[in-house]
Parts: sequence; structure tokens; C-alpha cells
Amino acid sequence: MTHSNRGVKAAIFDIGATLITGPPVAPNKVIAGLMKDVTAAEVSSVIMTNEFCSPEEVCYALEKPYGQMSQECKNGVCELWEAQACAPVEIDGATETVLALKAKGIRIGLLSDIWSPYYDGVCKAIPAIVEAADAVVLSFREGERKPSHLNFISALTKLGVDADESVMIGDTYTHDIAPALELGMHAVWVVARPDREAEDIMKVIKREAPPPTASVARISEVANLDIWTTV
Ligand SMILES: [Mg+2]
Repeated sequence: MTHSNRGVKAAIFDIGATLITGPPVAPNKVIAGLMKDVTAAEVSSVIMTNEFCSPEEVCYALEKPYGQMSQECKNGVCELWEAQACAPVEIDGATETVLALKAKGIRIGLLSDIWSPYYDGVCKAIPAIVEAADAVVLSFREGERKPSHLNFISALTKLGVDADESVMIGDTYTHDIAPALELGMHAVWVVARPDREAEDIMKVIKREAPPPTASVARISEVANLDIWTTV
């Protein structure tokens, strides 16, 4: 059987560096810098997969595996928490793009590895996108992170679509594009940070990794792709 031709019903967007940007240093790196002998990856594994209501809860969750934090470190986490909620900035054209697809009758999903305070900031930075979303799948609620297939499957289930009726749109090949293609989804690679993606760009060019369905330089090009009408 050749590839199905049932048409695209859903667009599932990554959030960070796809729809919003900022701040320059990721929170896991800030916290790892405050703590002793804990890596950014270890911090990430805790803060991205647990839901927190306060910075105190973050400290408590990190102290369990990694030991007592100094008061200075706790203060740093509090400052970071406050800053994160104001940090996200919309990437030009993001809201327009999502609303244009919504107007075409495409169901909208959000699929992100993210922690609680930054998502609060996302809701303030791109409220119309959050409002337009028919499904929101976030690592801190699911307890799972990309490239695990589980959150992708959860998004498809919530949207009520099959993999081949959906398009994943994201900036990171290994976390957004590769797992989507593995599941049989279409995938649009927004190559917003080519320097960070250089290795995967080369792999795709050398045909060592499967190509995305389409690639664009910026989010504002996504709604005009013919994928929405001709897949
Ligand atoms: Mg991203």
C-alpha cells in the first residue's frame, strides 16, 4: 500500500524555539550552576517531569535525590522561578500561523518538554495559541519527555487523529522530527537554530537520517506549505 492520502487533520507544535523564545540560558543549566555536583541533565530529569506549584516544591524535589541545598541556592531557584514566568517571547508569526491553520479546520496540538513556571509564561506570551489548542501535552504533566513516543501518542489520542493524519512542527530533529517520522506522522522542521542542528542537517543531507516532510527557516512559512492541502 502506498502512503495514505487521507489529508491532514492535525498540526502538533513544539513550543520552545518553535513558537516562543528566551531566555538565553535554560533553567536546568541555571539550577545546575547553583547546585554542587549535579548536572544540567540530572536537574532536567526532575524539573521537566514533575508538576510544581512553587519554587519550594522544586527545591524539595531536587533535594530528595541530590542532597540538601544551601539557602543561597534556594534563593536562586526562587529568583529563577519568578523570572521564568516572564521570560517567554513569541516568535514573529507564531500566533498568526497557528490561527491560520485553525481557520482551515486543522486541529491544534501543543507538545512540549517544559517545566511549570515557564509554561505559565507561555500562557501569558501566546494566549491565543493556548486558547486555540485542542490538546496540550506537557512533559511536567505526563512524566515523560521527548523523544519518547508516549507523549506523541498521547497528543494523537487527545486529538482523535491517526499518525498519518497529523503533522509535527518543531525545531529539534532528534526530539521533534525523528520520533514523529518513526510513528508515521508528517514532520515540518523549523530550522530556527541551524547552528544547533548542524549535525542532524548533515545526516539528513547524507541520507543517514530520514528527511522531514518539509523544512522551513521560520514559523511564519508553515501555514503556506502545500502539506495542508496535498498530503
Ligand atoms: Mg523546541
